[in-house]
Amino acid sequence: MKQLGALNKYFWKYRLRFGLGLLFVFLSNYFNVLSPQITGFVIDYVQQQIPGYHAPAQPAKYDGLVQRVASWIADAGYKGLTVVALFGITILLLALLRAFFLFLMRQTIIVMSRHIEYDQKNEIYRHYERLDTGFYKTHSTGDLMNRIAEDVSRVRMFTGPAIMYLGNLVAIISLSVFFMLKRDQELTMYVLAPLPILAITIYYVNNTINRKSEQIQASLSNLTTNAQETYSGIRVIKSFVQEKAMLGFFTKNSETYRKNAVGLAKVEAVYFPSITLLIGLSTLLTIMIGGLYYIHGTHQIGLNTILEFVMYINMLTFPVSAIGLTASMIQRAAASQRRINEFLDMEPVIHDNPGAQHVELKGAIEFNQVNFTYPHTGIEAIRDFSLTIIPGEKIAIVGRTGSGKSTIAQLILRMYDVTSGKISLDGKEIGEHTLRTLREQISYVPQDVFLFSDTVENNIRFGRQQASIDEVMTAAKRAVVHREIEQFPEQYQTMIGERGVTLSGGQKQRISIARALLKNPGLIIFDDCLSAVDARTEQEIIGNLNEYLHKKTALIITHRIFSLMNFDKIIVLEEGKIVEQGTHDQLLAIPGGYYAGLYERQLEEDQAAGN
Ligand code: ATP
Ligand code: MG
Repeated sequence: MKQLGALNKYFWKYRLRFGLGLLFVFLSNYFNVLSPQITGFVIDYVQQQIPGYHAPAQPAKYDGLVQRVASWIADAGYKGLTVVALFGITILLLALLRAFFLFLMRQTIIVMSRHIEYDQKNEIYRHYERLDTGFYKTHSTGDLMNRIAEDVSRVRMFTGPAIMYLGNLVAIISLSVFFMLKRDQELTMYVLAPLPILAITIYYVNNTINRKSEQIQASLSNLTTNAQETYSGIRVIKSFVQEKAMLGFFTKNSETYRKNAVGLAKVEAVYFPSITLLIGLSTLLTIMIGGLYYIHGTHQIGLNTILEFVMYINMLTFPVSAIGLTASMIQRAAASQRRINEFLDMEPVIHDNPGAQHVELKGAIEFNQVNFTYPHTGIEAIRDFSLTIIPGEKIAIVGRTGSGKSTIAQLILRMYDVTSGKISLDGKEIGEHTLRTLREQISYVPQDVFLFSDTVENNIRFGRQQASIDEVMTAAKRAVVHREIEQFPEQYQTMIGERGVTLSGGQKQRISIARALLKNPGLIIFDDCLSAVDARTEQEIIGNLNEYLHKKTALIITHRIFSLMNFDKIIVLEEGKIVEQGTHDQLLAIPGGYYAGLYERQLEEDQAAGN
């Protein structure tokens, strides 16, 4: 339960709303509890009018407000039916006041819970953004989504409805018990005796209901997954003539679901009758014991008192029967908050070192005997890697798949920290620069293209929001995608992704390149970003890049040799180690070398393709 303490900062933030809310809870219940008293008063009044009736001596034990209204009506000299009618109107007014404060109560407490929900979602989102790539590798997207959506809304059930029910429960019980005790202590004890049994029963039944609903939820999700797979795999199912088997499978899941649902219906069927039974028991006790007191005249109570008590009991019915619900809401909220806290308490492994500075990067990079092992898999991706890149140099990294090329890019961007060795940028260790320095001033075209479900223009502009449409177009022209964008139905305003056009792999790559070029940084890393582009377009892009990259430091990771590009140095990686390095000509001269072999194969392919 202490997990919910994490919410205190929000309760403090919305303390005014919260305090007012609790006040309104009290007021609405206060006006509620006055109506039995008015009713009791009227009954008494009517009885007094019966000739020969001797009312039992009753001390005036009504609330001050009721007494004032009563004496005002009596002093005004009204008689008979008029008095009854006036009290009737008073009861109506009380109901209106109660309704008004109920409205205000919802307006404060439920609105507060919505504000807290909003703040909490933002807090979690902000925290997710701070966490590093390592965190995202070890937690599934579904889990992340669940905590920000499902868990937050369960916590909201606590900050809103549960607090409201709890406030109501405390207010109505204390107010009615207070007035009941004031009237007759012994009768109160008898009347309230069944209530604890009621509360405990409800709590247990409620737990059973919760358990069953969770089972239902689980079997429903099984059923949905099952059906979904059938629909998406319908062609496979049909071509393998497996319809019957799939149907059997579905029926079995469906049967489990039905069994659980029927079980729940049974429990629910006994729930309300048993509540009614226990409440009925209280009412019965009131009438029986109260009646005996009245007959024997031992307790200074009248018929009115019995009626008042019956009304109080009825008032307690709903709040008491909501105990179970409230308790399980709080339990679930605590469990959800625990899951939320688990993530909020996680600190990113990669963060700005103390004293890190934001500076303009020139683009000198130095790797000094760097080793790197992926923390959660133990794969040694980089071994004893040393390399010096001076500002303005163009470096190519080639090597077999899995040789560690992308990892080098990740390390420069400090998505991970090196296991041993040192990476320096402009002569300072990478940790002495802020993460903002690195990521703002290094443009990166990732190997796996990711575009947002947004317009082409906004996707290109992503890294530099203030760029003009002309700049966006220039970047697209450099990435040789402008002509194709012009052919789209709404050109640069065309939506990409699920809600818009479906782009080819090569188009996506080039939009991703345009996005990196627009950022216009001093240092740029291309990770295998021309793999889905045909040879002619590739040449055109390389031609453009030659001019664009003038004076910029560039790291180009590739599987193909770009002979048109003048690299200062080419690195060949194998199992995380540098096995060859030098200029194009130097590497070609290595007999049996990886680079020479790659070049030869590429020449043959190109010739075969007629280029
Ligand atoms: P490709 O040419 O296929 O893109 P690459 O040279 O870029 O390959 P890397 O992605 O750097 O290769 O991977 C190097 C090694 O590190 C591989 O063995 C790979 O399985 C492993 N690896 C890559 N990314 C991760 C990761 N996020 N977590 C754990 N291991 C990883
Ligand atoms: Mg790679």
